[in-house]
Amino acid sequence: MGEQWGFYFDPNSCMGCNACAIACKNRHGTEAGHVDWRRVETVSTGEFPDYQETNVSLSCMHCEDPPCVDVCPTNAIEKRESDGIVTIDRDECIGCRYCGWACPYGAPQYGEEGLMQKCNLCLDKGPGAGADAESKNTQEDPLEPACVDECVGEALHAGPIGELMDLASEAAARKFEQNPTSVIVEPQTGEEGQAAANVETPIPYQG
Ligand code: SF4
Ligand code: SF4
Repeated sequence: MGEQWGFYFDPNSCMGCNACAIACKNRHGTEAGHVDWRRVETVSTGEFPDYQETNVSLSCMHCEDPPCVDVCPTNAIEKRESDGIVTIDRDECIGCRYCGWACPYGAPQYGEEGLMQKCNLCLDKGPGAGADAESKNTQEDPLEPACVDECVGEALHAGPIGELMDLASEAAARKFEQNPTSVIVEPQTGEEGQAAANVETPIPYQG
């Protein structure tokens, strides 16, 4: 397989402004309301009044071993050999919603036209676009995902997973310098050096 592409999200830089989610909607022209390829959620830890809230920007993770691919009865979902991006071919999709139920992140969204749609890592613009697009690894100037482009806190990054690992390691080292008792959470890699797309835990750990 060509090098896996994915996202890296740093919760420490996210201010919860939703610019990423809105940029995604604008670029792909997704329906107002319930169809969100990217969303920002707040995770709470601790108990009131001693608690902490963390913003998490979520989209399809382009999983290493995607359950959505396994459950699709028409093989409409593909994990691309060329760059690891998971795409939906809407000519094959029958709108059964199995992928939406199988996905642990609720990434595939059911649109008004009765078909599923989700993040294609901005291979192309619009629902259903990108399945046949050239590999991100060979494109001369791959389209920067809209969420990354518009992220106010520079919390989101996209690229080949090797580059994202370097970013995650640098962020972990900075965190350790600030608080040497912190537990550093390293990205999880698969057998071929690939990783799930979001490579840093959203929950800050204290030692
Ligand atoms: S739709 Fe869900 S299961 Fe499928 S690749 Fe994306 S995050 Fe993974
Ligand atoms: S644009 Fe960036 S800072 Fe704003 S919510 Fe999205 S990830 Fe967080």
